[in-house]
Order: sequence, then C-alpha cells, then structure tokens
Amino acid sequence: SFHKSKGQHILKNPLLVDSIVQKAGIKSTDVILEIGPGTGNLTKKLLEAGKEVIAVELDSRMVLELQRRFQGTSSSNRLKVIQGDVLKTELPRFDICVANIPYQISSPLTFKLLFHPTSFRCAVIMYQREFAMRLVAQPGDSLYCRLSVNTQLYARVSHLLKVGKNNFRPPPKVDSSVVRIEPRRPQPQVNKKEWDGFLRVCFIRKNKTLGSIFRQKSVLSMLEKNYKTLQAVLVSLQNTGEPALNTAMDLAGIEEDDDNDMDEDDDMEMEMDGGEGGEASEFKVKVMNVLMEGGFEEKRSSKLSQQEFLYLLSLFNKSGIHFS
Ligand code: SAM
Repeated sequence: SFHKSKGQHILKNPLLVDSIVQKAGIKSTDVILEIGPGTGNLTKKLLEAGKEVIAVELDSRMVLELQRRFQGTSSSNRLKVIQGDVLKTELPRFDICVANIPYQISSPLTFKLLFHPTSFRCAVIMYQREFAMRLVAQPGDSLYCRLSVNTQLYARVSHLLKVGKNNFRPPPKVDSSVVRIEPRRPQPQVNKKEWDGFLRVCFIRKNKTLGSIFRQKSVLSMLEKNYKTLQAVLVSLQNTGEPALNTAMDLAGIEEDDDNDMDEDDDMEMEMDGGEGGEASEFKVKVMNVLMEGGFEEKRSSKLSQQEFLYLLSLFNKSGIHFS
C-alpha cells in the first residue's frame, strides 16, 4: 500500500543502499539529514555510519513504521524523526544530506538545500535520471539548461551512480541516478533575483543567438522598464537624498502591469529591427552594444559557461541594465 502521489518507491536492493552510503563519505561524527526515509532501509545504514540521523517524512504511516522499526535498538536515541513536508519544514543544522527523495520535489528541494543558511559538506541525492543529467550537464551537452547553470553557480555537482528502476518497489517509470552536490564556500556574490531573471531571459530559447533573444520586443520592454525605474530612482536620490519610488514610477510613465510572461512569447523571428518605423530605439542600441562589447551577439546559451554568463550579466549591470 504505497502512495504513488507521495513518490513512495522503496529501495529494496541492500547492495545498492550500501553503495550509496559508502559513496556519500559519511564520517562517524556526522549529523545526517535524510529526506523521505520511508520504511527506513537507508536510515538503518545511515545510523550505522554517522552520529545522528534527522529524518523528515511526510507520511504519518511511514513515521510510525520507522519508529517501530528502530524502537528498542541501540540506535533509537540517535534517530530524530520530523513529520512534515520537507519543503515547509525549517531544516536543522546538519553535516551531510543523504536521501532517496520523491521526484516531484526535486527542483524546489535542491534549491532549498542550496540556499540553506548553515553550511553543510554535501548532499547525496537520488534523482530521476534525466533531472540528474540536467544538474551535471556541461556547456554543449544536449541537456545543458538553466537548471545546470543555476545549480552549478551555487554548487559543485557530480554524478555518482546509475540506478535502474528495478532496485525499487514498486518500480518507478524511469531510471534514476545518485548525484553529489557540494555547496561552494564562500557562496557566490551574486544577487539571486538578478541572476535568476537574467538566466530566464538567456534560456528563453537556448539554441537561439543571444542577439536575437535580446532583440525580442518582450525582452527589451521588460529591460527598459527596469532601466527607467532605476534611472528615475537615481535622479530622485540626487535631488532629495532619498529614494521616492512613487515618483520614480511617475517619471518613467510606467503602468503597473503583471503580464510579463516571456516564456509564452513565441513570435521572435519576426521582430528584427526597430518596432517603430525601422529605426532601432536608443535603448535597444544600448542593449546590443553590451552584447557586442562582450562578443556575445552570435553566441548561444546552450554553449556558454557559467563564467561567461556571469561576465555578461556584469556587463549589463555596468550599463545600468537589470533583470529584476
Ligand atoms: N528513503 C526510502 C527508501 O529509499 O526506501 C523511501 C524513499 S521514497 C522514494 C520517498 C519518501 O518520501 C516516501 O516515504 C514519502 O512518503 C516521502 N515524502 C514524499 N513527499 C515528501 C515531502 N514533501 N516531505 C517529506 N517526505 C516526503
């Protein structure tokens, strides 16, 4: 009686569990965070390897089963079970995270870990194979995408183990892979929102040239809006010594409007130069100059390294162009 909706696929191959634990490189002093312990097959070996296991489990039946399994054993006082949704739970301090997670939470969980306030050595996590390959993909690989660039900015990622579906009960539809994620320390000094907004634009179409992406009306108007808002704030700062956001909006003639959804914008090839009368706007020229300055106009996101993305973002920001 497993819950498909909770992604309950229990690891049934003890050799595989051993191999995950061994590859995780657990120290006897480690506090281990486990997510979705289920019936405790992995938990048992984690308790043998580390000092303490803190396990977060959503399903109350699983929590009971887990408690029953370890009750009265020598390790029961080294196991703490937190019942709840890991995405809504404030995570404790830990040294290492080892988990066979429900695949539907892969992305939010990964970023929750990457932005965890206290530092930890690494996370060793079972993912759906394709998600794992996206995490570790390098520029030029077919699965290289926003997720790859974004994750690799905050962490070193490596593929540890391929896992076939028959290692689980019931078997999931897809194969899996175990990945190691080591957060970079110190954390990179980027504005998270700015970086995220920038990558969203760059990956609107990863195989298009950046020149054609940044020539899209929807992209230009979003950037110009940000630009004017910022310029107006700077002007009002100069005049009064304090930011006046309402004034800034008035000055820029900006209307509040939320439909900025670029992902749905599909009409790019058509809008080559200058929406109005064939003449490129001043702002568009500014944007194109940034791309040309860095030699990015003909480049494509599918082949750009993290350093190149960081460099391009810094060029935009230097020209007062912002993505958040
Ligand atoms: N770790 C066990 C194993 O390897 O045999 C079970 C892994 S199973 C893929 C995923 C487990 O995560 C299930 O026990 C499920 O109840 C639990 N789970 C699902 N969603 C969760 C959530 N949001 N927070 C915490 N646990 C969750």
